[in-house]
Amino acid sequence: MKAELPAVTLPGGRQVPALGLGTWHMGESRASAAEEAASLRAGLDLGMTLIDTAEMYADGGAEEVVGEAIRGRRDEVFLVSKVLPGNASRTGTIAACEASLRRLGTDHIDLYLLHWRGRHPLAQTVEAFETLKAEGKIGAWGVSNFDEPDMKELLGAVEPARPAANQVLYNLARRGIEYDLLRWSQVQGIPVMAYSPLDEGRLVGHPALEEIGRIHDASAAQVALAFLLTRPGVIAIPKSGAPERVRENARACEIRLTSEDLRRLDEAFPPPTRKRPLEMI
Ligand code: NAP
Repeated sequence: MKAELPAVTLPGGRQVPALGLGTWHMGESRASAAEEAASLRAGLDLGMTLIDTAEMYADGGAEEVVGEAIRGRRDEVFLVSKVLPGNASRTGTIAACEASLRRLGTDHIDLYLLHWRGRHPLAQTVEAFETLKAEGKIGAWGVSNFDEPDMKELLGAVEPARPAANQVLYNLARRGIEYDLLRWSQVQGIPVMAYSPLDEGRLVGHPALEEIGRIHDASAAQVALAFLLTRPGVIAIPKSGAPERVRENARACEIRLTSEDLRRLDEAFPPPTRKRPLEMI
């Protein structure tokens, strides 16, 4: 049975699942590549049809694993990839995107992100994004690791063009964006993609999460993901290279956290009480 995944609507009107698939560290070893592709396909089978990758991951190796996973089923997938800041000049962005398309074995990326801010002026990167969009090589563009002031600067520099998403570190142990960026993004209608939603696996086995998990017959990882699913406009992208853990993660959408659960989570993982610069991994 397909899990009923909640959806998030992107600025262009397209709906994507609020739970997708990460790929960092995939493609680093030939020995595990087939299992990694199988994990991604297991996620697709359950409706986790958003796949997040980047030219940086395994120097393109992760994009190759994704290409293998989506072969023959490209139409089911909402594909996200990222350009490295060092490549994000007007011409470099276009060359980087074309190289990503070759590795992914497709003619378009649905959402193409600037991985983090670098030395190239934002207006030039966005000009390249708009060219790629006009050519049909990308469906939309966005950014990653942008704090609220970066987002405001970006909008000021490129309006009327607007990013379709901002991908940032967000999980129970890293709730800094709840102070400002999250609300600002929700008001602007710019979805937040929560990366490292399991804090790179560190939340797995956390006693407070296990305790809440026992009430719902769920694992700590599922509770951590269920928490993010309570946030409007947030898309979580857990990574697992094992099909059974991908299936476990998909079932997070079946958990309905109560207000008492959320209160206990606030106790174990206090929300921010003052502004801190955006954390990055
Ligand atoms: P994560 O998804 O928070 O955690 C991944 C780790 O958790 C892996 O070690 C995985 O191991 C383990 N895991 C996953 N599901 C599990 C489960 N149900 N039970 C036990 N262990 C589980 O960390 P992440 O990979 O850093 O973040 C997710 C994705 O966000 C990345 O893959 C990448 O696509 C993206 N990202 C983006 C940026 C950026 O700058 N934009 C930065 C970091 C990450 P197994 O694989 O062995 O299951």
